[in-house]
Amino acid sequence: MRILVTGGAGFIGSHFCEFLLEEGHEVICLDNMVSGTDSNMEDFFYHEDFTFHEHDVTEYIHVHGYLDWVLHLASLASPVFYRDYPIKTLKVGALGTHKTLGLAKAKDAKYLFASTSEVYGDPEVHPQPEEYRGNVNPVGPRSCYDESKRYGEAVTMSYHRKHGIDTRIPRIFNTFGTRMRDDDGRVIPTFIVQALNGDDLTVHGDGSQTRSFCYIDDMVEGLWKLMNSEVNEPVNLGNPEEVTILELAEKIIDLTGSGSGITHEPLPEEDPERRKPDISKAKETLEWKPEIELEDGLEKTIRFFAK
Ligand code: NAD
Ligand code: UDP
Repeated sequence: MRILVTGGAGFIGSHFCEFLLEEGHEVICLDNMVSGTDSNMEDFFYHEDFTFHEHDVTEYIHVHGYLDWVLHLASLASPVFYRDYPIKTLKVGALGTHKTLGLAKAKDAKYLFASTSEVYGDPEVHPQPEEYRGNVNPVGPRSCYDESKRYGEAVTMSYHRKHGIDTRIPRIFNTFGTRMRDDDGRVIPTFIVQALNGDDLTVHGDGSQTRSFCYIDDMVEGLWKLMNSEVNEPVNLGNPEEVTILELAEKIIDLTGSGSGITHEPLPEEDPERRKPDISKAKETLEWKPEIELEDGLEKTIRFFAK
């Protein structure tokens, strides 16, 4: 197949591009490098079936020839980055999704919009099934991201209903692994870099808030299975193993053998208290569930950052 991937210089996008190339497909990557890096693509940049174009997908996209799939993964994705670039975040979820859907329509291609557990906001239902409509503050500090993704889902479903586009909408829960940036700001790379440098780990609040972390290899397999399924509506993809942020910090100190301590910093405003996916739908419709334990994924990620 001939596949367009937006955000292919980022963490999840680069792993998915590499996987698609290994499966024998041609991959065209569009990325404006706002948070992506050259090094994420170095393992496959010169692959004969890979092409890279530096392009902001909120602007008109022109691609020669046919496309089988359009995968829209581009977005600012770390709370630190989307706090610094709120308007770019809104634009890539709104205009970028509109442009890539227009391209999929013109090429009669299957389409994926990378959504997020953040569409549930600070959830009042636990764990979160796809039917839950969420608890998002439309004017809060995280709204630029949450609402851009909620709009992205709405415009994707509208193109499906109005134009018959064959859509896929993964709601991705916290995913981690190799190729995350050391200054990404998300909790796992932050804690690992702090532990390896012997600095204190900065736990926000008392660390009782929870997240459920999925290793990147499991996520890539979930995305692939979703694309090969018939499911047009949103599907949760994530690892239901829930940990508190304090437990995560202690685990990382233990696994790195670091002498670091833990300091507590103020909890960011509207930081979700609990998050855990209900993955019944993915299990039933995709026959997918994560296989990699948190500790095993952390060990691989620690080795990557240590290098
Ligand atoms: P990332 O920041 O590593 O990668 C995103 C990529 O998109 C970067 O390379 C960036 O340069 C690019 N990009 C951003 N705006 C762009 C624009 N206007 N034009 C072209 N390229 C642009 O983030 P990630 O963790 O790999 O996330 C990938 C996708 O998955 C995002 O859509 C994100 O919202 C979603 N997601 C990720 C997680 C997670 O835990 N990693 C969780 C939920 C959803
Ligand atoms: N967090 C933390 N210390 C840090 C960075 C993050 O305690 O140095 C917390 C953050 O406040 C949140 C959790 O870790 O409660 C996960 O944050 P992340 O930015 O990785 O993703 P989120 O799930 O909030 O989008």
